[in-house]
Amino acid sequence: MNMKVLIVEDEYNLADVIRERLEKEKLIVDIATDGEEGYYYAATGVYDLIILDVMLPNMSGFEILNKLREENVASKIIMLTAKSMLEDKLNGLENGADDYLTKPFHMDELVARINVQLKRNVKNYKNILTFGDLELNTTTLKVTCTKTNEVVELIKKEFQLLEYFINNPNQVLSKEQIYDRVWGLDNEVESNNLEAYLSFVRKKLRAIDSTVIIKSVRGMGYKIEYGNQEIK
Ligand code: CA
Repeated sequence: MNMKVLIVEDEYNLADVIRERLEKEKLIVDIATDGEEGYYYAATGVYDLIILDVMLPNMSGFEILNKLREENVASKIIMLTAKSMLEDKLNGLENGADDYLTKPFHMDELVARINVQLKRNVKNYKNILTFGDLELNTTTLKVTCTKTNEVVELIKKEFQLLEYFINNPNQVLSKEQIYDRVWGLDNEVESNNLEAYLSFVRKKLRAIDSTVIIKSVRGMGYKIEYGNQEIK
C-alpha cells in the first residue's frame, strides 16, 4: 500500500527537496505552496500524512490544522516552522499536530519522524479488513464472503476501491475523493472509469453472494452498505 503525503510549504525549493527525498522512500507526494491551496488539498482526507509549514500565505499552518481537526480529518500532521518558540510548539501539539519540527532540520530527521508516524499506522494496519459478511485480504487481494465461504480475487484497482470503502464505512465518498485516493491527483481519468471499476467490484461481490453493496447516492457519491441493514 503506497502512502500519500501532502507537503504544504511556500518555499518551493524546500518543498521540492522534501518531495524528492520522500519519493525515494516510496511515498506518493503532492505539494501545495500556499495556505488556502494546502487546506483545500488536505481537506480531501486522502493523505496519510501532512507536512505543514506554519508561516504560509493566505492561511497559516495553525489555521489549517484547526480546521482539519474540526472536520475530523484523520491524517497525521507534522508541523514545520522557522520559529523555535516553545509557545508555537505547544500551540501546535495542543491543536492536534502529531509532531513538530523546527527549521532548519536535517532531511534524515524529517524522514525518521515521518516513519514513526506512518509506522503507527502500519502497526494498526490489519492484514484482513472486514465489513459485513466480507473479509478482504490486503496481501492476496482476495475477498471472502464469510456466509458462503466463496472467494474471489480482485485486480489492483478493484482492490483499492473496495479497501477505500471498507476503511470509510459510514461515509458517502464523492467521486473526487475516490479519484484522488485511487487514481491520484495528477492523473486525468475518464469519468466513466470509476463507474466501470465499481461495476466490476459489484459483480464480484454478487458472485460470492455477499450482501454488501456499494450504493450510489444521487449527486453525492457512493457508500458501502451491508445489505441486511436495509431489508425492506
Ligand atoms: Ca513558510
